[in-house]
Amino acid sequence: MNNRNSAGAIDSHTILYGVFGDPVHHSKSPVMMNAAFREFGINAAYAAFHVKPDRLRDAVCGIRALGFRGVNVTIPHKVEVMNYLDEVDEAASIIGAVNTIVNENGRLTGYNTDGIGYVRSLKTETGCDLRGKRIVVIGAGGAARGVVYALAREGPASIRIANRTRDKAAELAKDMSAFADCSGINMEELSAISDADLLLNTTSVGMHPHKDQVPAANIRYRPGMIVSDLIYNPLETRWLQLAGQAGAIVHRGLGMFIYQGAYAFEYWTGRPAPVEVMREAVMRSLQIPAE
Ligand code: NAP
Repeated sequence: MNNRNSAGAIDSHTILYGVFGDPVHHSKSPVMMNAAFREFGINAAYAAFHVKPDRLRDAVCGIRALGFRGVNVTIPHKVEVMNYLDEVDEAASIIGAVNTIVNENGRLTGYNTDGIGYVRSLKTETGCDLRGKRIVVIGAGGAARGVVYALAREGPASIRIANRTRDKAAELAKDMSAFADCSGINMEELSAISDADLLLNTTSVGMHPHKDQVPAANIRYRPGMIVSDLIYNPLETRWLQLAGQAGAIVHRGLGMFIYQGAYAFEYWTGRPAPVEVMREAVMRSLQIPAE
């Protein structure tokens, strides 16, 4: 089969990919993934599909029927989609969500690349080693589940989780306690913590258009501590700005988005993803000059 097409034109051999979401037309995944395919001259096309919840089952059947090689799944389908796959990878099953589907001759397997994408971004962009580190996570929603699982697999000393809804923090800590020393704490306890090596916001607080909000006040920042935020709109949240001013090392959310896509690209093609090309494509589409 002719799977190379340096001209980038769609033809009868083009391998299809996409993202399913509702809404989906804000997604930067098509720009990012098509740039990656183009970089290697892979004859592939990646599009955004607006799939309503009541059509998700049909859409997944369409992956098999039309022979799509791979699909990303975004909000609100990451949990429900697991019911329609042939297999769910062990990590995705523990996390309870799938964001990447691989089609192997009609057999669909679901993976979760969000958490491992976050950790790869954190390690690549800050150079940190998470073994033996004290981690504090704010938030216990869907993204937190993948991220806490991936962090727990890195051998940290502890992971403390604080969330507005306290019970969700305790539940997430319990679910991940087989992999690391995890505990749920109260939001009020955050201001008393002085020994965190990594402090991470996984809530949506501070996201556009509420850019002036911060997930927690009175944090004891210290030089050398890493402060990280999953939010990438804005690119640098108010919370990260305050942490940077206080001497912390800041880690932004865009890298997680790039690397979750990089893992998906690697699962689908078996090649190392052209991460910098993908990052540049996203930055261009956000109209941010490359750094
Ligand atoms: P989610 O499942 O809806 O969880 C939202 C989290 O934010 C929960 O912990 C929730 O607390 C908390 N929260 C929301 N509003 C709050 C408020 N006013 N005060 C305090 N806490 C509040 O959402 P998600 O999918 O986990 O996404 C969370 C964030 O991560 C979003 O900003 C999203 O853009 C970002 N994200 C980034 C990437 C990336 O690639 N960089 C990937 C996925 C997600 P309760 O449990 O109390 O409601």
